[in-house]
Amino acid sequence: MTLMHALTTTKERGLIIPIPQVEPRTAIPLQNLRIPGPTPVPPAVLAELASPVINHRGPEFAAILRRVTARLQFVFQTNAPMLTFPASGTGGQECALVNLFSPGEHVVAITIGHFGNRFAQIAERYGLQVTRIAFPWGEAADPAIVETRLHELAPYRGVLLTHNETSTGVTNDLQTLSALIRRHNPDALMVVDAVSSLGCIPLDMDAWEIDVVFTASQKGLLCPPGLMMIAAGPRAWEANAQARLPRFYFDWARARASLERGQHPVTPPVSLFYALDLALEMLLAEGLEAIFTRHRHLGEYVRKHVRAIGLHLLADPVSASNTVTAVRVPEGIDAKALLNTLRERDQVVLAGGQEHLSGKIFRIGHMGSCEVRDLFTALNCLQVSLKEFGFAAGTHREERLAQWQHYKRGQRTRHAS
Ligand code: PLP
Repeated sequence: MTLMHALTTTKERGLIIPIPQVEPRTAIPLQNLRIPGPTPVPPAVLAELASPVINHRGPEFAAILRRVTARLQFVFQTNAPMLTFPASGTGGQECALVNLFSPGEHVVAITIGHFGNRFAQIAERYGLQVTRIAFPWGEAADPAIVETRLHELAPYRGVLLTHNETSTGVTNDLQTLSALIRRHNPDALMVVDAVSSLGCIPLDMDAWEIDVVFTASQKGLLCPPGLMMIAAGPRAWEANAQARLPRFYFDWARARASLERGQHPVTPPVSLFYALDLALEMLLAEGLEAIFTRHRHLGEYVRKHVRAIGLHLLADPVSASNTVTAVRVPEGIDAKALLNTLRERDQVVLAGGQEHLSGKIFRIGHMGSCEVRDLFTALNCLQVSLKEFGFAAGTHREERLAQWQHYKRGQRTRHAS
């Protein structure tokens, strides 16, 4: 830089960055958010976000971290160390891979949709040798096929699995798959993406001998997006000591050492920890079994009434997810226009399809903070809109109403007892 250049002001050099002219801020609308994550956050949890920010190296944060860690272990059904990172679900996929493997190692990815593919892609980016056992979108992994393919593909160091495939609304039979993988290869590292299942449907990490499970805050855990939690069992920690993939931000060893001091290696999103602290208290108060039952009812309710409207499900009912339902778009209906109408007119927000299913399906989320009344409203609005779009929707509103009233009576009885 010349002296002359240094002495001229930004203004003289014509390098003024103008104040941006942006659209004014508007109030965030109150919507019936029925996408499969992020999910609605209960008002009490939202209120926690407004608490004052505290020192993340102080005793108050340490107490929160201790509570959250112990409760997460319970929700994961594990005694394994539980680490939390500021990240989303994709961060969980990356975090698991970089802490477990070395370049060139062979892993098998069991994929049934978009998020299983993403997991495999990240592994490839990090230089792992990835073999996919891929199933058609809308189907669960068939244990018999997995078993045969594993025999053909051995040796392999790890298996990547998606518990619940959010892009297709399909749940894998994780208990059966994990048992057969363990039987076939007792040393395999079993890594499970539980982003859209944990805290909604059963997952017993230790009992099912799974090595690593991760999830994120914005689905079943009643929180806004921003936190990822990952548990790693003894076999995974042994692998971690040998794993040579590069890592820094997601390094388990650093996170575990900090956790022992009641801290986090980086500045954690303390406000999200307040939210998670209360959310876990609420989840435990409801009880895991009650949560699983609620989600089973929600899944059955949606599937039953989607069919009653005259629509078709993408998934086979046997493996249909109790956290998200994928619905085929009827012939001749513009899915984007339908979802826009629902959002703008009824404040009902559904999700579209991903990749080749874009325009072919839409998805209804029913995980986390969700009750039948939310689905009742959403399905009624859907039925009305479909009719306006020219689809001869069924007329099962009365049945839906009766079922809702039945459900409400049950709830009142529960509360009264
Ligand atoms: N895995 C699954 C099963 C998911 O459902 C998602 C997101 O929906 C992800 C991974 C990626 O999570 P994120 O979008 O939070 O990065």
